[in-house]
Amino acid sequence: MSEAGSGATLLEVRDLSVRFRTRDGVVQAVSNLSYTLRRGETLGIVGESGSGKSVSNLATMGLLNRSYTDITGEILFEGTDVLKLRQEQMRRIRGKDIAMIFQDPFASLHPMYRVGKQLAEAVLAHEDVSRDAAWNRAVELLEAVGIPNARARARDYPHQFSGGMRQRVMIAMALVHNPDVLIADEPTTALDVTVQAQILELIDRVKREFDCGVILITHDLGVVAETASHVLVMYAGRPMEYGPAQEIFTGAQHPYTWGLLESMPTVEKRLEILVPIEGSPPSLLHPPSGCPFHPRCKYRFEPCDGERPPLFRLPDGHLDACYLPPERKRELWTKRIGAELGVT
Ligand code: SF4
Repeated sequence: MSEAGSGATLLEVRDLSVRFRTRDGVVQAVSNLSYTLRRGETLGIVGESGSGKSVSNLATMGLLNRSYTDITGEILFEGTDVLKLRQEQMRRIRGKDIAMIFQDPFASLHPMYRVGKQLAEAVLAHEDVSRDAAWNRAVELLEAVGIPNARARARDYPHQFSGGMRQRVMIAMALVHNPDVLIADEPTTALDVTVQAQILELIDRVKREFDCGVILITHDLGVVAETASHVLVMYAGRPMEYGPAQEIFTGAQHPYTWGLLESMPTVEKRLEILVPIEGSPPSLLHPPSGCPFHPRCKYRFEPCDGERPPLFRLPDGHLDACYLPPERKRELWTKRIGAELGVT
């Protein structure tokens, strides 16, 4: 754990690009991505499949195979560039200082071992403690994530838990070493809606109790609406919009973010029906010229298929990559998008 106080910078991603060399050519999975995560914050990274949101975090965890992956930029964890660490050094950070919760808890737990044993083994992997102490720590963690009757349930196998309870076990697993950064990759996708809300509440609670920073990766803006302090919207491997969640939900600037908001079922809106984003994301082998969203954007105009738009900084500090003039965006938001969503 760092000595840094609440709000200190934990993770700083600077100009990260990830390319996969494949037989069919180079896949530009992530381009020029930058963001910061501070202790006590939740950063929601939102985008469709193939937007680069998971790949960028696998890079942070050191889980990309460097023999066919080119990574440039920096990923600074408490000031150290993890991209420059050797495998052995990275292994010490992974799971200990930076931990990850995956989408499918059943696939991540061994079906043949009791959950308490799996948690205790995770404790023993990084700490020099007795087996009894590791078992007690496993029980404590199960209690911390809200598993009732934790001491008895520690002796159960994964199949004896419901989907939501298994995800709680996975969260306990991620918390074994009091991580500074918790990365949750689509943690609620496999769960039904009521359980989703409980798991999101739990992640928010453990962030406060364990005093860490959370990266919440999702395709659904609704998932980050309640808990994220900042939101990063990605499309085709690129950042489209990035800023405080409050600014994004009450004054989004990018047409792709508008599309995500309009297709979100959980926001109180005046629309009778949800509006899907027409078309599908582009191939990352042959990305479109100019703005990657231009083939699907209903507001595209003359410059959009030429040069790639840079990230423009707004007076409130939030960033967006769109050529529409600020007054046009304001007009569209006030009269149309925000009005339809009931948030102007
Ligand atoms: Fe649409 Fe053009 Fe803005 Fe891209 S740059 S989101 S195509 S208006």
